[in-house]
Amino acid sequence: MDDINRKDQGPLSTLTQTASANTFSNVSALSVKKQQTRPKIERPSREKAEEAVRTLLAWAGDDPDREGLIETPARVTRAYEEFFAGYEEDPEVELKKTFEQVGGYSHMVLLRDIAVASHCEHHMVPILGKAHVAYLPTNKVVGLSKLARVVEIFARRLQTQETMTVDIARTIEHVLEPAGVAVQIEAAHQCMTTRGIRNPGVVTITTHLTGVFLNDERWERRFAEQIRGSGT
Ligand SMILES: [Zn+2]
Repeated sequence: MDDINRKDQGPLSTLTQTASANTFSNVSALSVKKQQTRPKIERPSREKAEEAVRTLLAWAGDDPDREGLIETPARVTRAYEEFFAGYEEDPEVELKKTFEQVGGYSHMVLLRDIAVASHCEHHMVPILGKAHVAYLPTNKVVGLSKLARVVEIFARRLQTQETMTVDIARTIEHVLEPAGVAVQIEAAHQCMTTRGIRNPGVVTITTHLTGVFLNDERWERRFAEQIRGSGT
């Protein structure tokens, strides 16, 4: 989330309703694939990355050579390998691993309160919250842990909460071809809570609905009811 005074930003209790009239029937496999294929960026060496951290330490006003900081560049680069492991992973491959026929199950599958730990692409600071992911299967279901993996893979990349919400829904839509997908993420952005407007209580909610969740308000209501009370 960028600065709150951005023109397209709502009020502090932002409800970013990203669901709109798009149903994805027009989203081709190609455009989904294109989105998820990482551009070929040549990675700098570990030494270069560590040197960049030393520069930032000095920029912050500290001495990179003092005892407490001497190992920090190595620690930070290792931490980055974890924070951004999602660039090396393909969420579609994850979903394709285990799907099977639905076997008569015709109701909503919902995972509530999936932990989200991501980083915003504007400030590279944490976005912390939870995701609720639901789909209505037609003929394919996946192991539940795979839905959480899709969230995790997208979270371990730099992005905005809005794009993460849409990307998760699109991936499930594309691989499982369900009757509909609903994704909601509620998260605190440290770029808003610890800097900028410094509003510690603000939570951003983004929602993306497709198929029956978008077109049939009964399904939308079921999703909303079942995720309500999350965190209690
Ligand atoms: Zn930010």
